Amino acid sequence: MGEIAAENDLERRLVRVILPAFHMIQTFTMGRESHFKCTEGLPEGAVLVNGILDISTLQYHLYFRHASFGIVEHGDKIPELIISFESIGGNMPLFKCHKCGTVENTALGDFWTNQDKPICSECKTGSENKCQ
Ligand SMILES: [Zn+2]
Repeated sequence: MGEIAAENDLERRLVRVILPAFHMIQTFTMGRESHFKCTEGLPEGAVLVNGILDISTLQYHLYFRHASFGIVEHGDKIPELIISFESIGGNMPLFKCHKCGTVENTALGDFWTNQDKPICSECKTGSENKCQ
C-alpha cells in the first residue's frame, strides 16, 4: 500500500470524464459563445489516453492519465472525475431538463453534478411553479 509513485504506475493513474453529447453539440453550434471557467476538473498536463462514445446514453467517456490521480487496480472501475464550471459573464451552454424537458443554462440546475439525468432549477427546487 506504499504511496511511492513508481514510473510504471503512471499508466494506471486514471480518471474518467463524462461529456454529454448534448453539451458538445451546444458548444459546436455556430454562433454560440460560452464564457466559463473550469473550477473543478483536470489538473494541468493531464493526458487523454482513450475515449468511447456510449451511444445508448449519448455520452462520451474520456479517460485521462496524470501523476496526481489514484492508481486503478486491474479490474477496478476507473473513477469518474466531476467537472465543474462557473459562468464568467456570457452564456453557459444549454441543457435539456431530464424531468420536464425545459432547456436551461448549465449554470443553473444540476447539470454539472448530475450529467446522467440533469434537471432544471425549477424541478430541483421543487417549486410550485410548473416548468413546461
Ligand atoms: Zn425541469
